[in-house]
Amino acid sequence: AAAAAAILHDVFGYDRFRGPQAAIVDHVIAGGDALVLMPTGGGKSLCYQIPAIARQRAGEGVTVVVSPLIALMHDQVGALHEAGVEAEFLNSTLSGEQANAVERRLARGEITLLYAAPERVTTPRFLALLDALHERGQLGLFAIDEAHCVSQWGHDFRPEYRALAILHERFASVPRIALTATADAITRADIVERLQLQQARQFVSSFDRPNISYAIVEKKEPAAQLLRFIESEHAGEAGIVYCQSRKRVEEIAQLLQGQGVQALPYHAGLDVAVRQANQDRFLREDGIVMVATIAFGMGIDKPDVRFVAHLDLPKNIEGYYQETGRAGRDGLPAQAWMAYGLQDVVNQRRMIDESPAGDDFKQVMRGKLDALLALAEATDCRRVRLLAYFGEVLGEGPPAAGPPQGGRGPLGGQGGPPGPTVGATCGNCDNCVQPPAVWDGTEAARKLLSTIYRVQQASGIAFGAGHVMDILRGKQTEKVAQFGHERLSTFGIGAEYSEAQLRGVLRQLIATGALAVDAQAYNTLQLTDASRAVLRGETAVLLRESVSQPAARRRRGGG
Ligand code: ADP
Ligand code: ZN
Repeated sequence: AAAAAAILHDVFGYDRFRGPQAAIVDHVIAGGDALVLMPTGGGKSLCYQIPAIARQRAGEGVTVVVSPLIALMHDQVGALHEAGVEAEFLNSTLSGEQANAVERRLARGEITLLYAAPERVTTPRFLALLDALHERGQLGLFAIDEAHCVSQWGHDFRPEYRALAILHERFASVPRIALTATADAITRADIVERLQLQQARQFVSSFDRPNISYAIVEKKEPAAQLLRFIESEHAGEAGIVYCQSRKRVEEIAQLLQGQGVQALPYHAGLDVAVRQANQDRFLREDGIVMVATIAFGMGIDKPDVRFVAHLDLPKNIEGYYQETGRAGRDGLPAQAWMAYGLQDVVNQRRMIDESPAGDDFKQVMRGKLDALLALAEATDCRRVRLLAYFGEVLGEGPPAAGPPQGGRGPLGGQGGPPGPTVGATCGNCDNCVQPPAVWDGTEAARKLLSTIYRVQQASGIAFGAGHVMDILRGKQTEKVAQFGHERLSTFGIGAEYSEAQLRGVLRQLIATGALAVDAQAYNTLQLTDASRAVLRGETAVLLRESVSQPAARRRRGGG
């Protein structure tokens, strides 16, 4: 422990370890295996860099760091050189000659930390090099960074990570430390299994980012809402705006520029030079707003990003957490803001339905989307729900380390965020700061579902949201006349509801699976098994007041 503290101070210039760092470092220096789950910015690098230095000094040899991010490798090796540590990397940016030089230094035992891309590490040539080092007792530690890449349930699956299991099979006596900032139960269980880390001690940090405030608003005119958000709360500050498509990125960047915001676009369709230039400006200059697809952000370490805005729904909570986590790395107040609407739900469901993946995979993806939708629809503390997804209770710190739960079906019993703990709130999310007035939309939901049922029965075909709402509200449209739908018993029984209200009801029904959208058939609405409980009045449908409700029925609080 004294050696570790000395390295922390003398090599890295820090006075004390943060959170679980000390325990992790001690465990790994002593030769134990570790799985480290720590949020972005938590300080994962030191968890293997200090053991690497300690083990090299103790004559145990080199640490091989597997990392998928070339840019990150370069940054880290550069920083280690400045701290006087012998570090090198092996990846596709090196010429054959340069790579040979690194390999020769490695064989001579001159390197403390060797960073390598996963596809490098598992080549026969590289494994032979490791064999030679291992025979001489000069292979000190394996560090596997971004370990979630081994799991298809993580947000960044990389097949070449699967082959890393060979490190354990071939060099069983060499300790390993795997690190990730993604830690939902199913991904964690998968990492343990794929990398054979059953014996590894798990170190789970709190995933709470107390300085980030969360807000999720109803999407009406997203561009105008975004502009208002930036102008009123983040004028002149750096931020990231995530959009789903390249086209949307271009549109929003232009629109912001037209309004005097220093916005730049970033997506994979841009010329590499343009992309690089925009990224450099974002990192170097103050107050740049990067409008981007999710292609932007991995390995970007800009401390003073004051807000991350989502104009479209991410795929799941891990994605949301990763992306919003890029805000406020300096620990100062920052905001995560998202506009979310019915179309998002429809789009994300369709993307899953239409993906070429197998049924099991789709099932897991739907479960993950549902958990995110529940977060978006929540009328109680967002942070409580977000942390619950990572198995953490707000205010109680991280879950106890131990074997991951799981193994019971694809979601390992995780299903979605459990209900919030009574009393625990963060005071730093939209729902805490201004508890939304909620109204009971159960009756509206029943009327909607019975209308969908009757229309389909009467006409033998399904219809989309617009037409169903028209019938419910008693609107005489051409289509209503064409199908004779004004004769249905449900025609006009929801005249007291506005279209906005009904959209809110629809969104929640779809979000909770009580209604399905058939993407193959013009986005028509279909009842599901879960519709029945709502129709019978057994499932309450609570909606935010922003989906404004006739004043008479309004009530405050969490209902
Ligand atoms: P992660 O990989 O978990 O996202 P990093 O390893 O990049 O995080 O660390 C984030 C920042 O925190 C870095 O600037 C790092 O130098 C700093 N840091 C890490 N540990 C400590 C510590 N014990 N004391 C002070 N700063 C630290
Ligand atoms: Zn809260």
